[in-house]
Amino acid sequence: MKRYSAFAIAREALRGHTGWERAWRKAQPKKRYDVIIVGAGGHGLATAYYLGKNFGITNVAVLEKGWLGGGNTGRNTTIIRSNYLQDPSAAIYEKARSLYETMSQDLNYNVMFSPRGVMMLAQTEHEVRGYRRTAHANALQGVKTEFISPKRVKEICPIMNIEGPRYPVLGALWQERAGTARHDAVAWGYARACSAMGMDIIQKCEVTGVQVEGGKVKGVTTTKGDIACEKLGVVVAGHSGVVSEMAGFRLPIESVALQALVSEPIKPVMDCVVMANTVHGYMSQSDKGEMVIGGGTDGYNNYTQRGSFHHIEETVRALNETFPMLSRLKMLRQWGGIVDVTGDRSPILSKTPVENVFINCGWGTGGFKAIPGSGWGFAELMAKGQSPLTDEFSMWRFREGKFIDESVAAGVAH
Ligand SMILES: Cc1cc2nc3c(=O)[nH]c(=O)nc-3n(C[C@H](O)[C@H](O)[C@H](O)COP(=O)(O)OP(=O)(O)OC[C@H]3O[C@@H](n4cnc5c(N)ncnc54)[C@H](O)[C@@H]3O)c2cc1C
Repeated sequence: MKRYSAFAIAREALRGHTGWERAWRKAQPKKRYDVIIVGAGGHGLATAYYLGKNFGITNVAVLEKGWLGGGNTGRNTTIIRSNYLQDPSAAIYEKARSLYETMSQDLNYNVMFSPRGVMMLAQTEHEVRGYRRTAHANALQGVKTEFISPKRVKEICPIMNIEGPRYPVLGALWQERAGTARHDAVAWGYARACSAMGMDIIQKCEVTGVQVEGGKVKGVTTTKGDIACEKLGVVVAGHSGVVSEMAGFRLPIESVALQALVSEPIKPVMDCVVMANTVHGYMSQSDKGEMVIGGGTDGYNNYTQRGSFHHIEETVRALNETFPMLSRLKMLRQWGGIVDVTGDRSPILSKTPVENVFINCGWGTGGFKAIPGSGWGFAELMAKGQSPLTDEFSMWRFREGKFIDESVAAGVAH
């Protein structure tokens, strides 16, 4: 694989951009792999990448039923932060955030990480208490956050109305090195690096069955034929319940639609990310100038990648309160994804009842930010059978009552 560089851009500009290679090889499935990952979203691709980079395991296939990055990885609003309450969460999200800092250099692919700062508004006394508590927890965990005053909120984000009408801003949990990255680029950068290590990324290849013999995985049935494997990683977000059923076990997980929308592009008006969880909406501005907006999940389980209309109305109404200037803005487009939500709002990175089948899911409305940390830990779990990053996230914690309650940090969204 040729390295991307300023020199390469200049060279290609001079020769009419005829010399760029394909970013990743178009692969056909082999008969057998050491590891198969199902799902070429960010988490699946990052897992494959760290299997190769950290453990030298490169006889790997990543199977994707659609196109890579076409699931939630290409549909999210790209917020990255690590201000979670519980220690295991802070560890994996902060690992991810710190990997984002150097991801462009590591992958030799510009993922446009922009640590512009994320604030989570406190608009009730409960939120003030909750976020102060999180700030204290973060201090102990080595995650840099602070609880800031309404005056400071207004200084950082002048377009915000902090006076109400329903819920005045009472303060905010602020993480300065949190921000955003370009979601497609994260998937593409990992895919390119995996392909360069000799791994096969096979698109339009749906897994339709999991072959198990004597309690151990033997391979998968796919729309491109049967493929044998030693180990299987299931990383399919909203379809986790469907694929786990193929392997013969059930997951404590629900699938619901979550949607987002963007406005017409306007001049730069805000250079941070704001989340208003009480009124239920959040917003940032993309490099193109569009306001990137999201809200809550649909209130019922479903597999449609659309989302219901009333949620768009609710989200826009909520943000109009916080940002009155939005009322004149036209919305350009809207889309949805199917997110996989657990009861304690924390992910599952775990062995399963089937030997050598591993599951990575439950990132729900907020897993984009976790991609590198999740890939790092899940690769270690798959390679060595254990990882300090994933130890607490076993699927059996629900049976044992060892919940990792993140309803304050992740109950609403992102
Ligand atoms: C509207 C929206 C906004 C969001 N905003 C944020 C945010 O701001 N910040 C944040 O951190 N997170 C956010 N998220 C959540 C985040 O997008 C997800 O947690 C994350 O992208 C999950 O990545 P993944 O790789 O696990 O899943 P995906 O990217 O969905 O990848 C799973 C892949 O598996 C494939 N697949 C499924 N079944 C099969 C099969 N049988 N065979 C082969 N392939 C299969 C799918 O096609 C898919 O490509 C948002 C999500 C949505 C929908």
